[in-house]
Amino acid sequence: MKSYGLETLEQIVREVVSRYADEVMSLQNLPCSAEEKLFESPAARALKEEIVAVGKKLWMREFVDGNGGNISCRLTDGLVLCTPTMRSKFDLTPDDISLVDLDNRRICGRLPHTSEILLHLAIYKRSPSARAVVHCHPPHATAYSITGLQPPVGILPEYEVFVGVAPVSPYETPGTQVFADTIIPFVAEHNTVLLANHGVVCWADTVTHAEWQVEVLDTYCRTLMLAAQLGRPVTCIPEPKVRDLIRLKKRLGIPDPRHEPEAVIEANSRPSAAAAAEDGAGALVEERMKELSKSIASEVVARLAGNHS
Ligand SMILES: [Zn+2]
Repeated sequence: MKSYGLETLEQIVREVVSRYADEVMSLQNLPCSAEEKLFESPAARALKEEIVAVGKKLWMREFVDGNGGNISCRLTDGLVLCTPTMRSKFDLTPDDISLVDLDNRRICGRLPHTSEILLHLAIYKRSPSARAVVHCHPPHATAYSITGLQPPVGILPEYEVFVGVAPVSPYETPGTQVFADTIIPFVAEHNTVLLANHGVVCWADTVTHAEWQVEVLDTYCRTLMLAAQLGRPVTCIPEPKVRDLIRLKKRLGIPDPRHEPEAVIEANSRPSAAAAAEDGAGALVEERMKELSKSIASEVVARLAGNHS
């Protein structure tokens, strides 16, 4: 093949690439279409259905009333599915769920999303292992939150392992960034916080597990209240046995401020359906980029061959 000067080659490549530029740019600059695909994917559908099911559980357990409470989960590391504002958690359908980014921009969804998303996002931004957040107003745990009393530890094994230390965050007006920021000091070492004069927030690897934490917490608070009526002091689990529970908790990858300092909390390593969906959308873009590259390359080669003849 004849050799070409750099300028001629550059000219040919520029002409060919410019003809494909729009499509290349659209693949790179129109994440919305990729995000919409993701939002409509079977993996996203499964997560939306899980949110709807958990919403019904919250309502049936009387952990929410009116339009109270909100639920979210990560679809990808940077995109979050969440419940709408002004909807009973009993009445949700998968089509009511919105998609927002970590800066609270709504990407997809037909309904205005919950104003409490700022609280959820504060958690996601600071804990990569938090994949789902549930906020609600369970009466017994909320009774603790309005007294500012942190539930004691070392009493029931299930509570130690799945929740443990649940601090009370200071009161701020719900729905504001200032309120969301009250959670920040607690995110790294906890999975549950009592929100003063408000309710609770729990985060976990799945929406279902975050709701389980609410159940464990509220039942624990109720049990403590019942025990207080018996007129006998509560017996605590011996300290060495509590350490056993905390070691088990560490193995399960659940955060706790009582973990040994050198302990590293492993992020949930189970591949999630959302991650699979993200891979799927990424693969579509990748595939189209390959096709475009091939078209550009073969056209450049054809042009060079044409120049040669
Ligand atoms: Zn609330």
